[in-house]
Amino acid sequence: MDVSVVLPTYNEIACVEQEVSRIRATLDASPYTYEIICVDDGSTDGTRELLRELDGIRLIEHRRNMGSGGARRTGTRAAVGDVVVWTDVDMTYPNDQIPLLVKQLEGYDQVVGARRTEEGTHKVARVPAKWAIRKLAQYLVETEIPDLNSGFRAFRREVADQYLHRLPNGFSCVTTMTMSFLADDYSVAYMDIDYDERAGRSKFHWYHDTRRYFLQVVRMTLSYNPLRVFMPVGLALLFFGLGKLGFDMVTKDLRVPTNTLLVLFAAFQVIAIGLLADLVTRATKPRDLVDPAR
Ligand code: UDP
Ligand code: MG
Repeated sequence: MDVSVVLPTYNEIACVEQEVSRIRATLDASPYTYEIICVDDGSTDGTRELLRELDGIRLIEHRRNMGSGGARRTGTRAAVGDVVVWTDVDMTYPNDQIPLLVKQLEGYDQVVGARRTEEGTHKVARVPAKWAIRKLAQYLVETEIPDLNSGFRAFRREVADQYLHRLPNGFSCVTTMTMSFLADDYSVAYMDIDYDERAGRSKFHWYHDTRRYFLQVVRMTLSYNPLRVFMPVGLALLFFGLGKLGFDMVTKDLRVPTNTLLVLFAAFQVIAIGLLADLVTRATKPRDLVDPAR
């Protein structure tokens, strides 16, 4: 089996059938053998019943709603293809380009469809928040990331299997997939895609999901490269404290005020916790990782 397409569906009655048939048509016309795995995430609008009637798909049903990340994780665990494709079933991503996406994966571990425009819902809130989180993520993994939370991507299943247990249930699951690969030096390539107007309503909640998304990026850093956060903060405090100490010595002849000591203690604590966090990440890192693509 070459390709497993994982489709999370939650109340997508408007277009699920159309999406499945367009994905099937494009893959039938390609040289790849494939399976389509639909993970119904507790739909209540009839999507689930519709999927049960559909031929030629593997259907997995969540008893209750878990979130798109949970659904993607379930589907990926069940996948048997060498390559797993993630996408939405809301007519936003160019699902007719799945074979092209899979072709681009040659020589890479993951290919992400990078959106040229932001057509998502809650534009005003999402654009600046996404920009800030993307900057932070880029700083943490020291790599350019054109689209951090695209839901359209293909990756090698063996590599991804190593991270499945870490995927959160929410929307930040796609971000976690990119960052996990980058953090372990797997190659991630990007393919420019168009992003269309959504059919049906987005399930993204502007406040709860952005907060979780931000937290997830911070959590990822803490688990992969804590020093990248702790060291700059600790060193800034240390230099400030030392400067203040010098100033005190000159102006107050060696009677060190409490606030100087507080800053120095804070610096010491931040650095010490950073080093401990670093030790934990190193100690818990798996001994051997799957070889990257060549
Ligand atoms: N989804 C899901 N469970 C949820 C929310 C969403 O399985 O709790 C599915 C949804 O049907 C869609 C995909 O995950 O196929 C992405 O969700 P959505 O398109 O609403 O998010 P957005 O693309 O707006 O970030
Ligand atoms: Mg979507």
